[in-house]
Amino acid sequence: LRSNLKGFLKRNGLLTLSIISVITGCTLGFTLRGTHLSTQAKIYFSFPGELLMRMLKMLILPLITSSLMSGLSSMESKACCRIGVLTVTYYLWTTFIAVVVGIVLVLIIKPGVGMEMESNRLGGGPVMTSADALLDLIRNMVPSNLIEATFQQYKTDLIPIFKVQARTVQTNFVYVFPDESDPKGRTAYLELTPPPDVTYKTSPGSSQQMNVLGIVVFSAIMGLLLGRMGERGAPLISVCQCINECVMKIINAAVWYFPFGIIFLVAGKILDMQDPSTLGKKLGWYGITVLAGLFVHGLILLPFFYFVLTKKNPFTYIRGLLQAMVVALATSSSSATLPITMKCLLENCNVDRQIARFVLPVGATINMDGTALYEAVAAIFIAQVNDYELDFGQLVTISITATAASIGAAGIPQAGLVTMVIVLTSVGLPPDDITLIVAIDWILDRFRTMINVLGDALAAGIIAHLCQKDFPLSGAGKPVPSYGTQ
Ligand code: ASP
Repeated sequence: LRSNLKGFLKRNGLLTLSIISVITGCTLGFTLRGTHLSTQAKIYFSFPGELLMRMLKMLILPLITSSLMSGLSSMESKACCRIGVLTVTYYLWTTFIAVVVGIVLVLIIKPGVGMEMESNRLGGGPVMTSADALLDLIRNMVPSNLIEATFQQYKTDLIPIFKVQARTVQTNFVYVFPDESDPKGRTAYLELTPPPDVTYKTSPGSSQQMNVLGIVVFSAIMGLLLGRMGERGAPLISVCQCINECVMKIINAAVWYFPFGIIFLVAGKILDMQDPSTLGKKLGWYGITVLAGLFVHGLILLPFFYFVLTKKNPFTYIRGLLQAMVVALATSSSSATLPITMKCLLENCNVDRQIARFVLPVGATINMDGTALYEAVAAIFIAQVNDYELDFGQLVTISITATAASIGAAGIPQAGLVTMVIVLTSVGLPPDDITLIVAIDWILDRFRTMINVLGDALAAGIIAHLCQKDFPLSGAGKPVPSYGTQ
């Protein structure tokens, strides 16, 4: 028994430590909540968690660019095409299924029926339309300045409850802040048209978001072209391979800091959390509906697709991804989790590294099943609260816009809450009513991020299986001896 336990800990030591960290973080957070720490003390306390987030974010740019450039440069044009089409089709299909699951559940459970309105509406101002959002998405694919795209900073920083950044600064702009006048601190204002010429200051811990989609598109094009340049492209390809190998080495070292950082990341968030007793019962049912949907999609449907398409045991595969899912739970960001997802896929799931290098960065940017599901549930919940009957056509509109809104959402904390404006306005619901669900969003965000990450990783396994014949020598599904030596 002892040697079994030893073997288990050796294989799963880091994962076990990370799970213990989440539990310790929760316990510490709830214990310290009673002590009313000062804001300054909270900042010091959250510092190790902030460091963890910074480490992960530091790795995103070199990982995405080097993965895509080195991965695509070594693929045949035909294989690239096939993988590209398969990946995008699979991503769209699973996102749409997620939305349908959400719609069915919210129509059955009806969490918003009979709920009293508690939001403060400011109203007014033109709102972001679906067309604006689509233009924004395309805009982000073509960054006007590549350097700027790597440190793009949006002006959404007035947000203690809601540290999130709109990708849509060029069109309209969303921000939320607590309503000081509400004794329970429950409500939050949402404004959709910022006063012109206002400068928003940044605060410690606010996230700066890079335009990941623009970087993915540019790196993919560079990778494709490099591979076709023959000898002349070879030096840059080997630089990219070298950077990729180094980044993976940094990740391997950094993961040992994670269990420590996770404790403070989770505890810090719980310290900031609003008093759960102020959340209404109906909001509880709304939360349960979202969680049930995520469960059905992530642990039943996606594994089922994996099994049907690969004939392999999905749960063995998912076991290899647990480390990434814990990090997703702790960080609420699929982009920040990307380095760990990549590590899990290569080391535990033995996915072909060329496939992983392409499918994962693209997935972390456009494939968000959990977000799409949540957006559909939230929109219908808001309709139920408003006593607003949605006809079949409007449900179809919600399913399409929720899919589009999830593609447009960035892989950062609570980005889905911002893009939900598109879904609400598409069926004539008041976007201000997002305030109804803000209080519970940070926790739902963690779970939907886990499903977003799981969706990307399962997709990589499926695509690797389906494209095995395109990579007969690289051995999809076989143990990968070492990373980055291609
Ligand atoms: N936090 C999510 C992610 O990073 C996006 C969202 O749904 O808000 O995947």
